[in-house]
Amino acid sequence: MPRVRNPLDVTSKVAHLCQGEDSRALDNICGVLMESLGCQVVSVYSCLKDGYLMVANRGFGKEHVDNLILKKGRGLVHHIVSTNKTLCLNDATTHPSFYYVQGLGEEKFHGFIGTPIRRKGKVIGSLNFQFTKTYDSSLDDIALVETISQQIAQLIQIKKKKILPKDVNVTGRGVTSGHFCGSVVKRLSFEDTSSADFGPGAGYKVEKARLQEAHYKSQLFLEELRDSSNTKEMSEILGAHLMMLRDPMLLEKEEHHLKDNASAEQAVTLASMEIAEMFKELSDPYMQQRAIDVIDVGRRVFHSLQPSEDLKTKKKVEKAVYMVHQLPPSVLIEEGPLLYGALVLVEENMYSHIIILAKSMGIPSVIISRDQMMALMEAETVFVDGESGLISPDPTSVWVEEYTKSRALPSEKEVAKLPSCRTRNGVPITLGMNGGFVRDMKNLPTWIPEIGLFRTEFQFFTSPKLPTEEELTAQYTEILKSAGNRPTTLRILDAGADKQPPCLHFVHEDNPVLGDRSIRFLLKNSDIIFSQLRAMLKAQAATQGHLRILIPMVTVYEEVSRIRDHVVKVIRDLRREGIQVKLPPIGAMVEVPSSIHLISKISPMVDFFCVGTNDLLQYFIAVDRTNTLVQYLYKWHHPSFLMSLREIVEASQKAERPVSICGEMAGEMWGSLILLALGFRNLSMDRQVLYRHHELIRHCSTKSLERLVDRLLQYNTGLEILEQLQLFLDKWSLPPKLKEVLQTELNSMINPS
Ligand code: PEP
Ligand code: MG
Repeated sequence: MPRVRNPLDVTSKVAHLCQGEDSRALDNICGVLMESLGCQVVSVYSCLKDGYLMVANRGFGKEHVDNLILKKGRGLVHHIVSTNKTLCLNDATTHPSFYYVQGLGEEKFHGFIGTPIRRKGKVIGSLNFQFTKTYDSSLDDIALVETISQQIAQLIQIKKKKILPKDVNVTGRGVTSGHFCGSVVKRLSFEDTSSADFGPGAGYKVEKARLQEAHYKSQLFLEELRDSSNTKEMSEILGAHLMMLRDPMLLEKEEHHLKDNASAEQAVTLASMEIAEMFKELSDPYMQQRAIDVIDVGRRVFHSLQPSEDLKTKKKVEKAVYMVHQLPPSVLIEEGPLLYGALVLVEENMYSHIIILAKSMGIPSVIISRDQMMALMEAETVFVDGESGLISPDPTSVWVEEYTKSRALPSEKEVAKLPSCRTRNGVPITLGMNGGFVRDMKNLPTWIPEIGLFRTEFQFFTSPKLPTEEELTAQYTEILKSAGNRPTTLRILDAGADKQPPCLHFVHEDNPVLGDRSIRFLLKNSDIIFSQLRAMLKAQAATQGHLRILIPMVTVYEEVSRIRDHVVKVIRDLRREGIQVKLPPIGAMVEVPSSIHLISKISPMVDFFCVGTNDLLQYFIAVDRTNTLVQYLYKWHHPSFLMSLREIVEASQKAERPVSICGEMAGEMWGSLILLALGFRNLSMDRQVLYRHHELIRHCSTKSLERLVDRLLQYNTGLEILEQLQLFLDKWSLPPKLKEVLQTELNSMINPS
């Protein structure tokens, strides 16, 4: 029995409402339909990228309109959209796709008719009717609702454009799993604070007082640094910085800008830049270099004006999303745990230390381009998904809830029960963890078999003074204790280039990436290396832990032999002091091309090799890993890079030494697949991504991956390689969630933001 007595009357009313300019047209149409069909609910949904937004409704309550988003992949709306067919159900609750949204009270409805809304041949939404009683469909009803869905299609497009914050979503490059929604704090410059987002000054008096206090704080900070510095050069530089801080010219220029209504931040930035410009114009190269010092002093004062200085005194600080450009690692270490709910990094390189830090601190982070930053400038609140890279400005709470529900990872409890990792064809894979902070080691689930890399440098960032042997011993003891009987690879301090802890005071170099860094620097500062080695070995003696020592940035044979001699000497000294220590396994990092051909030569001196793809790639293809200008070239899917990785596996096998990978490539889904294909069986990565990799590896067969990689190596370009990965993925039957994650990652490699 048709329910509608006069369908023509209904369609002409709808047509009339569609023509009006009335912003409530869709709502009024729902009213007409409700009355004509005698149903209790009418809803209109519009398709989004990740779900279906309710754009009109009668029966559920107005608060859901433009807010409620149904998840893609389940429910009747999804069924209608994906089948592109009208669906009539006597009792919707018995349909396999039925899924009711909590809080709507949908469970009391039974009869259902829903139809796709199409525009230009594409399904753009769905029009649904719900009845409290069961419903017998009729061909006339179907014809009517299909006609109406055509009539309202244009209205939906118009409304979607007007109301959808999701239309201005930005998809950047996801860096870490996890998400966060909060207000946005923009800090777009650190080194050169000239383009920072200065707020307006609060008046001469207030700003002057703020600036004086910041000068005072900076003075205390620099004095403390100078007094604790352990070289003459260091204390001389700091003495010069202190003089610059008191320089009448700086104070005069600041005063001038304050009187011009500048904020304290702006005054110190402009004043220091003006003086720096004067230095740059001098002919003496030594004096030209002083420009950097003035800028540094200005930056120190600038930082003293920022909330981070209050971190220790403030009890509770609201976490926010920090949109930053060129964030210095020391600032992230200092402020991150307390202030940063999420990071939006503008033009950051995926493999920079800032990214590594953000990952290890578990801060959801996304990299975006400058254009994307502009699109987000107006947003007051943003939602950041560090896994997919999605950033949604000013989202509604319902949307956030739906989205986060749809992406939830299994609980810690479920994860803790995982067995050790094996591929589908039974090949055991060691999935180790990378760490950098003591807190990374808390509550390790049993299925994590080892700590493949512990970066020890971050502890050097947290204090202006060099950590003492006792402090290091306490830290390493805690790390080894938490690791229990897992092999734990502590890497010797790898500082320099973009990792310059304030307590080490690196001198300025034109090209620090190729300069005095890492093991080169340490071998010249043997007091640091000895105190580190003593601390590691004392921690091992105290815990009976499974310490392994890793030498970073090996470029020549002598570096390994000298470090080995140091370890042996420290063991001898400690034994003499009555501390019983044994020689731990020593490993060398392969992260500079020259070390690949040293594998056979240094293997008698080491017990294992560990590949650092971040640096190896940088040196292999001559692309600075932190330089955003050339980031488009910094890709591991370079055919010759893949060939060199294969060479490393072969050389290690020949030398009968185990080899693992601890660079970020292992923490990318495609990266780890390719590494397995190339023959690596030990991958170490960030804790946050371990679960997904474990899940993925269970679904892959090393045999088919090996076939894939043989094919990949025949291609000439990175793009051809990515095309092959896409073909491989298309044919791979995987759980939809995993497939989606792989597809998202592949998309961001094919179309980097
Ligand atoms: C690497 O270079 O891949 C590595 C693990 O070391 P880092 O990223 O700390 O330089
Ligand atoms: Mg490295």
